[in-house]
Amino acid sequence: MNAPTPVLPAFVPPRRVLMGPGPSDVHPRVLAAMAQATIGHLDPAFIGLMDDIKRLLQQTFRTSNELTMPVSGPGSTGMEACFANLLEPDDTIIVCENGVFGGRMRAMSERLGAKVVTVSDPWGRAVDPNKVEDALKANPEAKVLAFVQAETSTGALSDAKTLAALAQRYGVLSLVDAVTSLGGSPLEMDAWGIDAIYSGTQKCLSCPPGLSPVSFSPRAVEKLRSRKVPVRSWFMDFSLVTAYWGGGAKRAYHHTAPINALYGLHESLVLLHEEGLEHSWARHRQHHLALARGLEALGLSYLVPADERLPQLNAVRLPEGLQEDVLRGRLLGEYDLEIGAGLGEFAGKIWRIGLMGQSCSTRHVELCLEALGKVLQR
Ligand code: PLP
Repeated sequence: MNAPTPVLPAFVPPRRVLMGPGPSDVHPRVLAAMAQATIGHLDPAFIGLMDDIKRLLQQTFRTSNELTMPVSGPGSTGMEACFANLLEPDDTIIVCENGVFGGRMRAMSERLGAKVVTVSDPWGRAVDPNKVEDALKANPEAKVLAFVQAETSTGALSDAKTLAALAQRYGVLSLVDAVTSLGGSPLEMDAWGIDAIYSGTQKCLSCPPGLSPVSFSPRAVEKLRSRKVPVRSWFMDFSLVTAYWGGGAKRAYHHTAPINALYGLHESLVLLHEEGLEHSWARHRQHHLALARGLEALGLSYLVPADERLPQLNAVRLPEGLQEDVLRGRLLGEYDLEIGAGLGEFAGKIWRIGLMGQSCSTRHVELCLEALGKVLQR
């Protein structure tokens, strides 16, 4: 006779304070929303919720774009979907690369068979609009300009308003990564003339990861409609998924939506708009300034010059000779505090301290400074 299968205990996660590059702390109201009963993805009540989410996302992106919806999947899914819908083989795209996520944009464009012109800036600096303008002049056949507003790998904030205006002036579509900026930094999709945008839920929206809000302007939708070849990915083809996310009471099945995750996104957007979007932007800046004063008092210096810093991601250089993984381990073990390590060329050289959404408060700043002060002193 086979031995009986052991009964495994339920998984109970430790209680952490999340101050890394995402995910951020999730409000109990969002967790409670996600624990509600699952209903059908074509249930009229669920369709009402989808309409509310769409309206709330439009308010958050500051757009009236009809094609505004959460893609089912993490930020990289929304990212890949935007590139896959906008690019056709042999289209020229100008990609700004000043960190890991600009590099990911380049890699995705190459896989889609586009001709990629890269505008490089040093890691830790914002995208230089002068270099972008030179690239637009030198490549009049370019169809798309892509850049990351908030480069989470380095903590640099680029001037999305100026870059989108350049794209408009040279007649190309702007494609913006707002994964870490949405909800935390000023962003005006319509007023700035942005054509395509994607974000993630686990940063300043303070929702668990797994959804990627996107929006396409009428110009971007026109480009999608006039494609000569279909979007290579069936799942990501916006012309198919809008049969489900489009308006009206009649929705066609495309894929089974992540129902409970969408309850959570709805609640996180409600929380954001209860606070007020502009208040949230100001809160991120205010706590960033307090954290920066404290980190500098501890002898830690910022990677990014003050006027290019992203409030919600504070990248600081480590003192010489420190084993950063050991110290991060102590923060986690002794304070239940998670901060992030460096990526790519900054691995082992910087820490990335997030102040995102619910993780952006006086309590978080104070805990982080106290814990860092203690472990650094030792
Ligand atoms: N873009 C930026 C700027 C990011 O910070 C991230 C994730 O950290 C992504 C894209 C990818 O998002 P995800 O990890 O949810 O796929």
